Amino acid sequence: MYLSEQIDALLQRQLSSWPVARDNYAALQQLPMRSVSLAHSEVILQYNPVRRRSSGARVDAASLAARPCFLCREHQPAEQEMVEWGGAYKIQVNPYPIFPAHLTIASLDHVPQRLEPRRIDQMLQLALELPDWVLFYNGPRCGASAPDHMHFQAGCKGFLPLCDEVVDPALWPDDELIEASNDGFIGFTQRLDRPLFFIRTESRPLASFYLARLQVAMMLATGSADEPMQNVLCWHEGDYYNVVVFPRRKHRPDCYGEGEGRFLLSPASVDMGGVWTIAVQRDYDTLTATHLQDIINELCADNATIVRIIDNFHKT
Ligand SMILES: [Zn+2]
Repeated sequence: MYLSEQIDALLQRQLSSWPVARDNYAALQQLPMRSVSLAHSEVILQYNPVRRRSSGARVDAASLAARPCFLCREHQPAEQEMVEWGGAYKIQVNPYPIFPAHLTIASLDHVPQRLEPRRIDQMLQLALELPDWVLFYNGPRCGASAPDHMHFQAGCKGFLPLCDEVVDPALWPDDELIEASNDGFIGFTQRLDRPLFFIRTESRPLASFYLARLQVAMMLATGSADEPMQNVLCWHEGDYYNVVVFPRRKHRPDCYGEGEGRFLLSPASVDMGGVWTIAVQRDYDTLTATHLQDIINELCADNATIVRIIDNFHKT
């Protein structure tokens, strides 16, 4: 059976046999959503109180060490099933969804979140084998709620506005690309209101090569041996691998918190992809396009860093 069919069957089974998942997916359908227009892109706000566990989570080393890892089998509910993939990952239904169908794809081993070259290849292969899904990856310092346990996530296609916006050929004139070949390209744009790198190619080796070089270029630009701060989206569509990398500089905005003038936001891949999950009703009611753009500008890499990344990319 194809992987995508196994996953469809897994979803069906879990939604009928696991009350927590069933209730949260049913609740998701009733969640308030509203659209906000940034200058050149659309953003959807989703009021999703069960995500408070994620947007409010402590991810410092001491808090992580003190908590049972929710991606390790021994701490997962008995009802949570898995589909094993490649002898390396377990694909599971995320019981606290943002997407109408939402998966967690975690390493079988408790090893740190890091987008190493073999992880890049696995992500691309998974995207190919899961044609109805968008994979995403949150760096350990900017959005991963389990930075100590390697994992991707996946959401059903057709949900993130950015995935449709970013493939518009008008955004990618030949003479503005960072590098291109007959098989595809890597480019950078700010035209969708946040800085992003985009890789589009029919060739998996080329996608892997561009993304691995981008990792090095970002590390050099920040002068850190740690993984660069990033959020990544990856999907396969009509023969093309598509990879979006949002270069980040900050995990949470200065306005993070609750109360007057504060917002409980921990933006990661899904938010950068155009769906902002809001755990607090007041935030949902009051967030404006200006707030969102200010937060994006504060969290994403600045222009000087982008210039260095592109320069480094050419040298790697
Ligand atoms: Zn773990």
